Order: sequence, then structure tokens, then C-alpha cells
Amino acid sequence: MVTLANLERFGEIGCEVTVVQPGPIHYYSGMGPGMLSKMYSPREISFATRDIVERKHSVFLQDKAELIDPVSKTVKLQSGKVLEYNVLSCNVGSFVPDKIVAPQGEDIFPVKPIAKLLEARERIQELLKQGDCSFAVVGGGPAALEIAANVRRLVKDQGNDATEVAIFAGRGFMSAFSRRLRKKVSGHLQKLGIRVIEQGYVTQVDTRKIVLEDGSLWEPDLSLLALGVRPSSLFEESELPTGPDGGLLVNKYLQSVEYPEIFGGGDCICFQPKTLDKVGVYAVRQNSVLLNNLMSAVHGGELQSFQPQGKYMLIFNTGDGKGIFARGSLVLDGKWAFKLKDRVDRKFMQRFKALE
Ligand SMILES: Cc1cc2nc3c(=O)[nH]c(=O)nc-3n(C[C@H](O)[C@H](O)[C@H](O)COP(=O)(O)OP(=O)(O)OC[C@H]3O[C@@H](n4cnc5c(N)ncnc54)[C@H](O)[C@@H]3O)c2cc1C
Repeated sequence: MVTLANLERFGEIGCEVTVVQPGPIHYYSGMGPGMLSKMYSPREISFATRDIVERKHSVFLQDKAELIDPVSKTVKLQSGKVLEYNVLSCNVGSFVPDKIVAPQGEDIFPVKPIAKLLEARERIQELLKQGDCSFAVVGGGPAALEIAANVRRLVKDQGNDATEVAIFAGRGFMSAFSRRLRKKVSGHLQKLGIRVIEQGYVTQVDTRKIVLEDGSLWEPDLSLLALGVRPSSLFEESELPTGPDGGLLVNKYLQSVEYPEIFGGGDCICFQPKTLDKVGVYAVRQNSVLLNNLMSAVHGGELQSFQPQGKYMLIFNTGDGKGIFARGSLVLDGKWAFKLKDRVDRKFMQRFKALE
């Protein structure tokens, strides 16, 4: 986003920039769960990529990158179009693996792309008009927590208290986090009336059907998938050097380890010097480094290295106007925590909204 905000700098040094994105807008995922519960409107959490790019006299293509050929330095798009590049910046994010999902399954919504949360919101409201329902969230991490809590809020705001919301968390909810944080989260979920099922992994999700590894069957009206994300498969399919998770393998300059003219940032990379969590904190902080290094690659200049911070702050939106705050061993909660998250997220969006 910082590169997009500075596109004119590339124009000034005689560069032509083409931006490829599957839709004309980009949703900010940090506020996605809040959009699901209607705390935020889709407009508040979206960035008008096409408008910004065109206003900055660059080319926007509503398309999808399908294959990168680093030898001929071309990118093949879904439409069949082939783009040539001197320097390439890859920021294609991550996706929710759908191996356990039946291909024809209905009323199943992954949490990514974020636009899916808008579809889920509409469908949940439609189902609630028909009476009490049960909604399932499949996943055992922070996204599952925020999604379930915000579904609960959406349901409650429709005046429905009988609808069941359950998280299918495998064998341990939030198992990657400290005991203190897990205790705080479980207390919150209990107060919100969200059930956490930890009796085993989900092996199949289909229309109104969830099957666990022990064979037990559940029949929710709608399922949301908040399973851990994986980097875009673009790099494996293009046979570029990738890390163990399939992300574009980059050095400390966010530069492909084999092709110095290819850069990347965010969820789609595997940062060679240190494994990074797939959190926006890193994606956001990589922005200025990526912009500097793209400019250096086209214009000459020094490359900057990305130095990831160790501890970072996490705030979970629990949908009830409160938040859970965690940093290192410190775990706190309250209305102030949500207010802080809201302020940070809105400030981030405003910076780019101003360009609109
Ligand atoms: C529900 C949810 C809530 C989250 N909340 C937080 C939070 O509060 N704080 C936090 O730090 N992190 C949060 N995260 C993690 C955070 O969203 C990611 O780390 C961050 O979005 C990564 O940014 P990105 O730019 O790499 O990818 P994305 O934000 O996913 O953007 C990728 C973009 O690339 C486009 N794209 C995809 N494939 C192609 C292609 N082949 N060709 C062209 N374009 C393509 C997509 O359309 C999209 O616009 C959350 C994640 C989820 C799922």
C-alpha cells in the first residue's frame, strides 16, 4: 500500500508501473471481523486500488497473476495477457486451504479473501430470518476467535439469543499462545455463549455438515473456515525458490534469493533470515523497506534490510465492544483494548483513504 501511495515517484524516474489485482478494491483484513458484525461498513475497511493507481497515472489491470517466468521476465495473467517486467513486486497474500471442503458444498465461507466475510454476513442475516440457527467456525487460532465473537455480535444485534455459535478448534484452542492468554480467551468465549469443541480435527466440511476425526457428525446451518493460512501458490506453480510453506523465499532485502529483480512482502513471502508469523504487523512494517528497495532496483541505490521486531502487540476484537490485549506475557482485556485496536486500525486506513 505504501508503494501504491508513492507510485508517482516511479513515474518521475521514467518507470511504467502496472498493478494487477483481482478486484478494483482491497479490503484491510484487520477490520474484517468487525465488518462481519457490522461494526464497520465495507467502505470503511476498503482501499480503492484502481482509482488510486489510475489517479497516479499508472496502469491498473483487474486480473490475476497465474505464472511468473523469471527467465523471460514475464507474468502470465488469468486473462491470458502476458506482462513484461524489469522489476517485480509480489504482494499476493495468503489463502485458506480448502482440502477438507467438499467442492460442491454450500454455505461455507473461508475468512480469506475478506470479501467472503461480506457474503457470509448477508447469508447469516438471511438464515436468521428463518429462525434459530447454528453457526460453526472451523479453526483454532485468533482468526477463529474474532470471527466467532463477531458472528455472535451479528446474531445478537438481530435480536436472536438462541442461535448456537461453536468453534471447532481441533485438539486445543489457541494452543500456540500462553496459558494466561488461553484462560482469558476461554473466559470471554464462555461469557459470549460460544462453545469451543476440542475433541479432534475436522476432516470434512460440506453443506450443513462437519465431520470430526473420531467420526462424530455436526450439522451447522453455515460454516466459516478460519484454518491457518498458506502463502499464495503462485510461486510454487512458477517453480521459483520457495520456503517450506510455499512462500516466495526472500533474503533480508525482501528480494528473491535467486532472482534479484523479484521482491515481495506480507503473507506471501518466506523470510529466509527468520520465520515470521503471518500477521499484518510484519506486512505493514515491510512496506517502507519494499518501497525503498523497489526504487533502488530500478534507479540504483542501496538496498535496505528488513529487521523484524521480536515481540509485537496483539489485540483481538471480541465483538462485544471489548478487546483482549497481549504483548509478551502481559495479557489484559476491556473496552479500552478494543478502542485502542479501533484507533490503530482506523489511523492505518485513514492514511490511505486520504488518497481517495
Ligand atoms: C480474519 C483475519 C483477521 C486478521 N486480523 C489481523 C489483525 O487484527 N492484525 C494483524 O496484524 N493481522 C491480522 N490478520 C493477518 C493479516 O491479515 C495478514 O497478515 C495481512 O493481511 C497480510 O497482508 P498481505 O498484503 O500480505 O496480504 P492480503 O491482505 O491478503 O492481500 C493480498 C492481495 O493480493 C491479491 N491477490 C491474491 N492473489 C493474487 C494474484 N494471483 N494476482 C494478483 N493479486 C492477487 C488479493 O486480492 C489481495 O488484494 C488477520 C487475518 C485474518 C484472516
